[in-house]
Formats: sequence, C-alpha cells, structure tokens
Amino acid sequence: MSDFAKIPSFDLTRNYARVKEEINVAVLRVLDTQHFILGSEVEALEKELSSYLEVKETIGCASGTDSLVLAMMTLDLKPGDEVITTPFTFFATASCITRCGGTPVFADVDPSTYNIKSEEILSKVTPRTRAVLPVHLFGQMCPLEEIKSELKARGIVLVEDCAQAIGAHRIIGGRIARSGSVGDIGCFSFFPTKNLGCYGDGGLVSVPEDETLASRIRRLRVHGAGETYMHEEVGINSRLDALQAAILRVRLRHLEGWNEERRIVAERYETLFAEKGLLEFVTPPVEAEGGRHVFHQYVIRAARRDELQKFLASRGVTTRVYYPLPLHMQKCFSYLGYKKGDLPAAEMLSDEVLALPMFPELLPEEQERIVSDIAKFYGKA
Ligand SMILES: *Cc1c(COP(=O)(O)O)cnc(C)c1O
Repeated sequence: MSDFAKIPSFDLTRNYARVKEEINVAVLRVLDTQHFILGSEVEALEKELSSYLEVKETIGCASGTDSLVLAMMTLDLKPGDEVITTPFTFFATASCITRCGGTPVFADVDPSTYNIKSEEILSKVTPRTRAVLPVHLFGQMCPLEEIKSELKARGIVLVEDCAQAIGAHRIIGGRIARSGSVGDIGCFSFFPTKNLGCYGDGGLVSVPEDETLASRIRRLRVHGAGETYMHEEVGINSRLDALQAAILRVRLRHLEGWNEERRIVAERYETLFAEKGLLEFVTPPVEAEGGRHVFHQYVIRAARRDELQKFLASRGVTTRVYYPLPLHMQKCFSYLGYKKGDLPAAEMLSDEVLALPMFPELLPEEQERIVSDIAKFYGKA
C-alpha cells in the first residue's frame, strides 16, 4: 500500500511546521495588546507591502473578493457601464463588477499562458468601457505594458487581479515591475492557500500612484467614514485584522524563498514529463518571455483529462480543475447573452486543464510518483 500514500494538492501543515516559532511569537504579541482590528500591525504590514510591491500605498481589507469590490466601487459604475475581464478565472473577478452595478464583458484568453489576450481586450473596448480587469492567472502576469498607455489615453481604468500572483513580475522598460504595480489599482487575496496566505480571510488593495484614490479606498473600507462617524459616502465594512497582519508579516519575509521553491517544483515537473516521453499527452504551463511566473498553481493541459484525474485519484494523488466552466457559460450570467463557442480558447481550456499538486514543500519523490502515475495512465511505463 505504500505506493498509494496520499499526495495532497497542497499541504499547509508542512509550511506551518517551518515557521511555527516565528508565527506563534507574532500571534502572542497581538494577543498581549488585545488590539484586533486594523491598528499598528496592519499599518506595518501595509508599509512593508508597499515597499515590496514598489507602490505608493496599500490598504489591507477583509478578503480578495472585497479588494476587488473596493476597486470597483471607486469607478462609480452606472447601468450599462462595461468592465472587460477574462472568462477563465475565479468567480469573484466577475461578480465584483455586477455587485457594483456594471456589466462584465468577457475577452478570450491565450491558450498557452491561460491569460486574457491584449488584442482581445482592445477589440472589446466600446464607449461604455470604464475599466479593464485582467487576472494574472496561476501566478503569471499578463503583459499589461502592451495595453497600458492605450487604455490610459482613453480614460479606461486598469485594475489588476493579483490574487494568484503576489511576487510575480514582468520586466517593463528595463525594470522589474511586480504584479499590482502596473495598473491603477491592484487586488490581492491572502486566502490561506494563496502564495502569501494568512490563517483566515484577508485581502489588500495596492495603489501604485494616485494618493487621492488610495485615501478614498481607505475610507470605503470603514463604511465611507473619513473622521469616525462622519460619512462622506456609503462604504462597506472590510477590515484586515491584526492577527492576520502579524501572521502575514512573518510569512512575507519568506515569500521570495517560497516562490523560488515553487519554481523549482515546476521545473522538476517539466523535466520529468520530458524524461518519461509524456509531452505528446500533456502540455506543461508556459512561462512567457520577460516575466517571472510564481506558480500559484501548476496547470497542465492533458489529453483525456477527466479519466486521468480519476486514475490519479485512485492512486492517492489529488488534482483539481481550475476552472471547469468558463464564466460566460455560468447560469448567473446567462442574461449577458453569451453562448457556447463565443470564447473558444477559454472553453477548450475548461475541458483540458488539470492542476497538479503544487506547494513549496512538495517532495521530489512525490513528484516522481505523480509523473510515474501519469506515465502509467498513458501507457508509457
Ligand atoms: C482567490 C481569488 C480571488 C478571491 O479571493 P478571496 O480572498 O478568496 O476572496 C479573486 N480572484 C482570483 C483570481 C482568485 O484566485
């Protein structure tokens, strides 16, 4: 039975074991203060992240979803206003648009990087386009430098969904530009399984340049109050708590190292696929020229995907499908009038993608097991 030892898609307990002492000290420090909402830990985290991302300001909030909602609230969308986004993403990317009264417009993706395509974005721009909301999917940035100035010239706001891509970068104008520093607003999630996760829900908005915009978001997260009990507009309650901030400050110190470890895991998968002659059956993820992928997920395209997933499950290997139904095909968006065939690359990916186990602590021998099992499935072992 040892052949069938379970391999999870991620294992946070292994990560906690590596930082347990540091985390416990940080948590106890907060408990001693009995100060739990916002406050100095959150402010310190915001400073550290602003400097890491090289942006003017960051604003902690209650979740990645809320970071997107806060960003959309600043657009003051009117009925009929459009926000262009990808159909191949987590649901929150599009629901924040409709929540704030806008209309999502879906633009198709690049089947090799899985990211929304620049030409597709530009082809969907209309006089009603208020913002573009690309997602840096699975840990790889979209080449926003290709569209940034054109959008700016048309007065269209660029909001990056960085929930899966903290620490990813592109080289733009000879400099490292991290996700969340290129557009007008960046949105991050600290959901526990994200590359920088906390131990509950948490999120963050980054504002690269505009301090007025940053102050407005800061206000919106506390019910739109500038001074306490003085409400300039109607906001929401979306605060980061001090315990999460303290945990995140510890984990941020390790983020670069963990992201490097993820890259090593990715490289090893690719080497193993080649060694076992599997490249005619599986397509590994592609790292685009000029960028650093941080492999939030390691997503392959696989022939007979569903059968492969069942086979691996029967051998104790957990895999996941991100995402099985593109957003333009979701029931809740049927009123938008899309039909099957409208966004062929996203639809094809939904049928073919499979996320293999990916986390910094995944062992080489576990990866060898996974790839041997894949080889067995395709009759190559
Ligand atoms: C995780 C995620 C979110 C939402 O983050 P939560 O913290 O879970 O609310 C939004 N967009 C993308 C692409 C995500 O992966």
